[in-house]
Amino acid sequence: MSDSPEAIEQSVNAWLDDNWDPNLSLQEWRTRLVEGGWSTTQWPSEFFGRDFTTEQAAVVTRVFNARGIVPVAQSGPRRLAAETILSMGNHDQKSRYLRPILTGEHSWCQLFSEPDSGSDLASLATRAVRDGDRYIVNGSKIWSSGAHRSQLGILIARTDPDVPKHRGVSYFICPMDTPGLELQPIVDMTTAYSFNQTFFTDMELPVENRIGEENDGWRLAKVTLGNERVSLSGEGALWGSGPSAVDLLNTVRDAGGISDPMLRDRAARLHIEGEVLRLIRLRTLSARLQGRQPGPEASVRKALADEHGQNIMELAKDLTGTHGMLTDTGPLGGDPEFPTTHSVVEGWQNWHGGFLFSPALTIGGGTSEVQRNIVAERVLGLPHDVDVQSGQSWSESRS
Ligand SMILES: Cc1cc2nc3c(=O)[nH]c(=O)nc-3n(C[C@H](O)[C@H](O)[C@H](O)COP(=O)(O)OP(=O)(O)OC[C@H]3O[C@@H](n4cnc5c(N)ncnc54)[C@H](O)[C@@H]3O)c2cc1C
Repeated sequence: MSDSPEAIEQSVNAWLDDNWDPNLSLQEWRTRLVEGGWSTTQWPSEFFGRDFTTEQAAVVTRVFNARGIVPVAQSGPRRLAAETILSMGNHDQKSRYLRPILTGEHSWCQLFSEPDSGSDLASLATRAVRDGDRYIVNGSKIWSSGAHRSQLGILIARTDPDVPKHRGVSYFICPMDTPGLELQPIVDMTTAYSFNQTFFTDMELPVENRIGEENDGWRLAKVTLGNERVSLSGEGALWGSGPSAVDLLNTVRDAGGISDPMLRDRAARLHIEGEVLRLIRLRTLSARLQGRQPGPEASVRKALADEHGQNIMELAKDLTGTHGMLTDTGPLGGDPEFPTTHSVVEGWQNWHGGFLFSPALTIGGGTSEVQRNIVAERVLGLPHDVDVQSGQSWSESRS
């Protein structure tokens, strides 16, 4: 097959004509997509891809969007796990874990944040001590979204406490049914049970569950966190394909428009913010099409988009009043992207639920202050945080 955009468009359309069946379950459909080689076309052909360039893959995405056909999961912890395993896992790990991620058979969670290590994640205290061909893990993680619905987790833990904090961390694949792992539910203020605190007590992980070299886990974690920032930097991305200013303005129009000039002013500002974000997104897209990797611009976009999301929710709450508490007033009826792992869908089906959830936007995936630090350091060239320059070992820094 020729790989020109026209030829790709023709092939994907022909394949969809033969294979798309809305009566299949999501997992059945995604299995078919993976087997047909149309799930992740930029991945290597050895692992379900077609070695497509960004531009060629964009043609496939356009066809799926135009036909309204759901692709494989594009974001969320399982996709973060997949990208990390694909770029840094060994052949066995790729062969074993990638396929069930793409088909949706396995859900994953992210076991990174700890009660005392969130923004300063590299200070994490969960220990993994090598004992022959296994590690013994002790400690605790928190805010583990969807851990109670996940078969596997990506876990970072300290394997050497006697070197500076960034250097003594390793990265693991953690089956969530491992003896010694316990979950404690955390219900958030939208009343959804989406988070957990995860406890490890003498939990044993085989050495083959480590991704990459021992003590090289921070480098891998940075890749995961970079991908997370990119995927969370779309408007409302924390709740998947969440509402935009357009959804809100449609709701307002349906309700007869706005007569109050102050509210009109807020709505106009939201529209402008949405446009600015759209243009930044186009700039990022065009950089990608020219082969440039996403950089700190994801932090610029995330910092702006999260506050935009909060502004949408606040105006929605003010405009819809008590009516906005009814379950059919929000823009979401359930998101096929997050059929099992995403919390928010249960928690808010209306504008008021969205308003209650919205403070989380400027926290999850790195707070707005942390995004601004990244912009300050990597775009504006300002000095790094002081402790990054310190040569202290992790144990010395805690004594
Ligand atoms: C919806 C949601 C889902 C999440 N899902 C997961 C998950 O699945 N897995 C997981 O591991 N974690 C998850 N988290 C946790 C998230 O990554 C952390 O909450 C986040 O990194 C912030 O850490 P923290 O809560 O410990 O806050 P802290 O780091 O304690 O920050 C407290 C305040 O201090 C500010 N601050 C901290 N350091 C600096 C600094 N250097 N400069 C300026 N200001 C600073 C912060 O901006 C913040 O305002 C989730 C969080 C949310 C809200």
